[in-house]
Amino acid sequence: MRTTPLHPVTDADHECPYCRERLDVRGWLIPGMRNLADMLCGRCGREFYGDLAAGQALYTPMLLEKAAGVVHDPHGVEWFAGWLRDSYARRTDDPVAFDVQERLRVTRPVVLLNCLDTLYGHSLLKLLNAQYHLGRHADVDLVVMVPSFLAWMVPDGVAQVWVVGLPLRRGTEWNEWLARQVRRRVEAFQQVSLSQALSHPRPDEVDIERFTRVKPFPLGEWDARLGRPTVTFIWRHDRPWRVTDDVPPPTRRGRLRRLLTPQPRPQGGQAELVSDLAEALRRDLPALDFAVVGLAEAGGRGDLPVWVKDMRRPKLGDDAERGWCDRYAASHVVVGVHGSNMLLPSAHAGGVVELIGPERWGNFTQDVLFRDTADCRETLFRYRFVDELTPPSALARLVELLLSKREDFRRLMNVL
Ligand SMILES: [Zn+2]
Repeated sequence: MRTTPLHPVTDADHECPYCRERLDVRGWLIPGMRNLADMLCGRCGREFYGDLAAGQALYTPMLLEKAAGVVHDPHGVEWFAGWLRDSYARRTDDPVAFDVQERLRVTRPVVLLNCLDTLYGHSLLKLLNAQYHLGRHADVDLVVMVPSFLAWMVPDGVAQVWVVGLPLRRGTEWNEWLARQVRRRVEAFQQVSLSQALSHPRPDEVDIERFTRVKPFPLGEWDARLGRPTVTFIWRHDRPWRVTDDVPPPTRRGRLRRLLTPQPRPQGGQAELVSDLAEALRRDLPALDFAVVGLAEAGGRGDLPVWVKDMRRPKLGDDAERGWCDRYAASHVVVGVHGSNMLLPSAHAGGVVELIGPERWGNFTQDVLFRDTADCRETLFRYRFVDELTPPSALARLVELLLSKREDFRRLMNVL
């Protein structure tokens, strides 16, 4: 079922960190990205909020002690503990935009899918759980709560959409005003459970077209479309492609800080590498269609060859992302540096070449939405992960191989 009871009965399993007694559940609270049970220790009388089983808390649930604001984190996952501790310390009662779209009449038990988060990829991956509830779990009505930047991706069939005007940088916010809106809405339904919002849904449970309304690259037309080989580089100004290792790898804490507040870095290096890649490919493939897509700071224009389509934007917006998805879906191959920036490109393109460094090895494949994984050999052919320091000439050779040799590979390997 992949749900956790929320209303009128709430189910949470935590023990008192002092008495080792199972805590009593007295209610629930959803003040933002965190879904919490309101809990009491029958022995020592201490009060807590305990994570309900959803999202990251499925794997590393934590307890917040109300009086002291201390987080008890038996799993030692500091980033997740810190978000809870800091958001509670800075809790606010300020209203935020809360737009309720009632699309279908609610007649059945409700599943609430909370997609709020402070990381783009986490929010998006939570939303992909909608398909599971709409498909295999069709005896419920689905309500999704999304940050406004994701509203365009909510699939058809969802009964209600609650669009919350919280930008990513405020994604961990503990907002009492929002908690009251959510409570009022949830308590208006007879029975509500919380989607467990798996951090990484299985590839066969995600049909990206239901979310973006963009048909992915037709793999059956790979060779037919080689008259215009199409390649797209996914640009990030805060995590650029680089080929020298002269910058020491950042610490975990530093990396997290950078994720939350993107630090601009000089762009010259990346633009040069991408230009070299594009030119190297075009030398062998004169009909090449090459584009660069992604977030760039204003002023980055003019740093790419004029024949390259520059689709970079300074900010994320529905229309930008939709247009980008059309471009991914037209691409034989997308190329980019590891990160959540690769989720939608990989979901729509024919193949992927990803640059990944040792500090990200532990996050392998977490940023890729695989397509057609029936034969693992074919999958491995189309999804390549290479060292982040790979130079443009070598990368161009690999992209060319994917473009021109896929059909030979399929014949040789008897791929059905
Ligand atoms: Zn106790």
